[in-house]
Amino acid sequence: MAIHGFESGQLVVCQYGLPREVQPWLHDVHIGEVVEPGDDPAAWNGHNSERAYCELAGVVPVLYCARFPCYSCHERYPQGFRQHVGADALIRITAEEATLPFPAKVLRFVSAEALRNLARVKYPGAAELLAEQDKETSA
Ligand SMILES: [Zn+2]
Repeated sequence: MAIHGFESGQLVVCQYGLPREVQPWLHDVHIGEVVEPGDDPAAWNGHNSERAYCELAGVVPVLYCARFPCYSCHERYPQGFRQHVGADALIRITAEEATLPFPAKVLRFVSAEALRNLARVKYPGAAELLAEQDKETSA
């Protein structure tokens, strides 16, 4: 059953959790997967279910960095981590986007300026992608 229009299994990124344009190398992109909220009040707070909470609070249960582990989380959260995220902050992505190399993710989810900053600190693959990009825009 979809929650706020998100089916379980939908891949997402949270716009507030994305790398920053200025220092995009500080952490990886956390790829999340929408999970089905629980229907059992006893498993939540004894009064209402996780689903009822999500419906009221406008949030969606998301399991981050499990199916697509990121380099920032894989040691601290080898099984990923679960969060309730505001439906408005979630951006739907495809499995193909989820597996892009980090510089391509930065270009896709943050900005071209962020990729330029990544190339400036010689992040592997960033300069090559930037060159490709500049070729495309000038052609
Ligand atoms: Zn992560």
